[in-house]
This record gives sequence, structure tokens and C-alpha cells, in this order.
Amino acid sequence: MSDFKPQWMEGTMDSRPQITIVMNFTRPTDTKPALLTFDEVKTFLHEFGHSLHGMLTKCTYQALSGTNVYRDFVELPSQLMENWASQKEFLDGFAVHYKTGEKIPQELIQKIIDSENFNTAYFCLRQLSFGYLDMAWHTIEKPFDGDVIAYEKQAMASTQILPMVPNTSMSATFSHIFAGGYAAGYYSYKWAEVLDADAFSVFEKNGIFNKKTADSFRKNILEKGGTEHPMVLYKRFRGQEPTIDALLKRNGITN
Ligand SMILES: [Zn+2]
Repeated sequence: MSDFKPQWMEGTMDSRPQITIVMNFTRPTDTKPALLTFDEVKTFLHEFGHSLHGMLTKCTYQALSGTNVYRDFVELPSQLMENWASQKEFLDGFAVHYKTGEKIPQELIQKIIDSENFNTAYFCLRQLSFGYLDMAWHTIEKPFDGDVIAYEKQAMASTQILPMVPNTSMSATFSHIFAGGYAAGYYSYKWAEVLDADAFSVFEKNGIFNKKTADSFRKNILEKGGTEHPMVLYKRFRGQEPTIDALLKRNGITN
């Protein structure tokens, strides 16, 4: 997703945004229509979520409109939309077999979910370990002249399940947090999952096409851009701060 033009207001004039999604999809062949992979559908939904954030915004200043929010909040609309990809009610609307018209059976959808959740607890801890390591490096207040591997080991200790491979160092290859713009921000990958799972649990409860819930998400989050603190906006939609419960459930860690 990107924009040709952002949104802003002056007086009563609302200059609407122009948003685009550009993707490389599987092409049709001589014998088959374009059959999107599950990943392509999810990526489209992800970018569509960013697009809604960009399109539905209603802010005065363009520097605060649309997706101009804190980094650890920008993936909420996009990751939220991905949740629809594994909902039968959503898939039944369009995802039919191109020859027979058959809908995707629930058992197959469950297999997709199960395969996504393979080793999920391990991957969760792995993400957390990177978040802890990132914070450990970026909260140092004095020049560091200690042992990098020992420092790293200590920072990641609470999430370490498997023994560390001797003479390797994650820090030395962690370009995300030194050259990738994620300094003190790596946690936001996991945090975005907490937010999107928690937010989707409201849709699951009220119905994935519930208009009232969708309107609330639109008015309280999508329209607001970065004009207020993310937690203020989120609580207005959700009625409370997010918890990790919905994410643990979605990952199959709890029931
Ligand atoms: Zn994104």
C-alpha cells in the first residue's frame, strides 16, 4: 500500500487521500485463471488494512493523518484484516474451486490454521528473545566495552529454550535493530499480534461482518491517524487495554 496523495483538512475543505495497492499476484495461464495462493490472499488483506487506514482517515494535519501513527500501532489495521483469511464465512463468499464451484471445507481451513500454529510457542519465545535483546542494547546509557556474547546471553536468558550454539552471536547479525530502523522497536512485531488478535476477538464475538463493531473500529481507530495516543484510541474501541489471551488462543497455546 502506498499513497499518491495524503489526506488533510483546511476549514470545511477535506482534501481526500489517494491510496494504491500494488502487488505481484500469480498470473493466469492459458489453461487456468489466476489462482491466488493463501499467502497472496493474506498479503492482499494485510495491505488492504493499511489502505483502509489511509483511505478512511479524517484528520486536520497530513503529518498525523492515515498511517502516520507510532510504529508499534501501524500494523494493527493490516494484521487485523489478515484474520478474515481463515474464516469460513469470509472464504465462502469468493474462494470456490475454479472448476467445481465447491467451497473450501472447514477441515481444510483447520489444517491451514494448524500448520500455521506448528511450533508456535517456540516462535513466540524466539520473537520475544529478539525484543529483549534489542531493548538490552538500546537502553544502555554508557559506552559498552564488555563481552558481547555474554551480554546477549543474559539479555535473552528468560526466553531461551534450546542451548545457544557456541561461538555464534545474534547481535552481530541483527541488522534490523542496528541498520533497519527497528532500534528499540523490534517488540512491535509481537505487540502488533497482541493488538490484532485482541481486536479480532471483538469481531469474533459480535460477528465478523458486524457493522456496529466495524463502525467503531473505523471511527475510533481508522479515522484518527496519529492524532491521539494509540492506547487512548484502542481503549475507545475495545473498552479496555488489550490482553494476550486472544493471541494465545489463536496460536492454539490455550483453549
Ligand atoms: Zn504492514
